[in-house]
Amino acid sequence: MKTIDEALELVLGGLEPLSAEPVPLVSAAGRVAAAPAVSAVDLPPFDRSAMDGYAVRAADTAPGVALRLVGGVAAGEVASAGLEPGTAARISTGAAIPPGADAVLQSEYATESDGAVKPDRAVPPGMHIRRRGEDLRAGLELAAAGSALTLPRVSALASAGVGTVSVHRRPRLDLIVTGSELLPVGAPPEPGRIHESNGLMVRLMATRAGAEVIDHGVIGDDRDTTRDAIAEGLAGDVLVVSGGVSVGPHDHVKPSFLDCGVEEVFWRVQIKPGKPLWFGRRGSTLVFGLPGNPLSTIVCFAVFIEPALRRLSGERDARPRLEAGRLTAPAEASDGRTTFLTASLRPGADGVLEATPTERQGSHMTGALGESDGFAVAPDGIGELPAGSPVDVLRLV
Ligand code: AMP
Ligand code: MG
Repeated sequence: MKTIDEALELVLGGLEPLSAEPVPLVSAAGRVAAAPAVSAVDLPPFDRSAMDGYAVRAADTAPGVALRLVGGVAAGEVASAGLEPGTAARISTGAAIPPGADAVLQSEYATESDGAVKPDRAVPPGMHIRRRGEDLRAGLELAAAGSALTLPRVSALASAGVGTVSVHRRPRLDLIVTGSELLPVGAPPEPGRIHESNGLMVRLMATRAGAEVIDHGVIGDDRDTTRDAIAEGLAGDVLVVSGGVSVGPHDHVKPSFLDCGVEEVFWRVQIKPGKPLWFGRRGSTLVFGLPGNPLSTIVCFAVFIEPALRRLSGERDARPRLEAGRLTAPAEASDGRTTFLTASLRPGADGVLEATPTERQGSHMTGALGESDGFAVAPDGIGELPAGSPVDVLRLV
């Protein structure tokens, strides 16, 4: 049986980001740049006025001296002629400074009459001019290959004239849910059957991690059906099968994986919940068999599958997103496995996330999820952690 770190290394080690594709900037947000994204223009692209007022020659300006008005420049226009000595041109914020002008006289410090403007003070050269290229130069790298296209970066790229960026392709995740006992979400109860939640959670968590999900629906516990569904589901980057990876007479998933040419990498991890997790590969397709208990599915997805999806999407350091927290009550790992305890998570007075494990714990205790915000992680082998101990937490929001 693998430790969590060994299993993670087997999933992520050598896993390369998917190929690059060009996408419009609006679709690039939240994805990872596959090539450096560089500014197409200088910013500002030309000398611009920072104020509403008058474009002037600074040397002409003195209190009370009349400057003849020669037209104006609104935002988006360019002056038809240069500014001669002794003249001024009305200018709007953001408009291009006419050639010859070297300063902007703010409207508030000027009086206009009889086709002329009189400054009430001298203005120094460069006043209220945003210089071409003072922010950045064309060709400057705004997002390195491998960096996340966050909203600030997307905004910078838009201003810098970039319309299309090269990003890593989104992983395609095929999803098969097994279990003859499963009722669709929200269906009327039936004797002997339970409501399915794993398919829903995998869909939600995978979509949030940036994957495109192909849902093959729920199938009954039947060997042929399972094999056929898996054969069809092996067409993408990741196949996730929920349930049926244990050793019961109705668990057809592992033999079906092997029938379909999937090579086993590991089965069973020292994690609770989630011990029966199965992982293999066929070609470049990663194949996960998730234990059916809903909490196992959630924990295994967050710890193993989400990092794999983020890595395929281009993230360089795709590890599980654990945060630092603190226990408010004692906790302990059970039977030789790192244990994820359902817990409510609240910031303490000092801002540290405080984890309070729910009273009910267990891979089938789905009701306890309703009281929790995620999990507190009790590592195996260090015995009971007293209240106040630092712990990793896994937040689900
Ligand atoms: P399995 O791994 O198929 O043996 O399932 C383990 C437990 O999880 C059983 O009690 C199943 O009824 C339950 N289970 C399996 N799949 C789901 C699902 N999609 N949603 C909710 N519970 C499930
Ligand atoms: Mg089952």
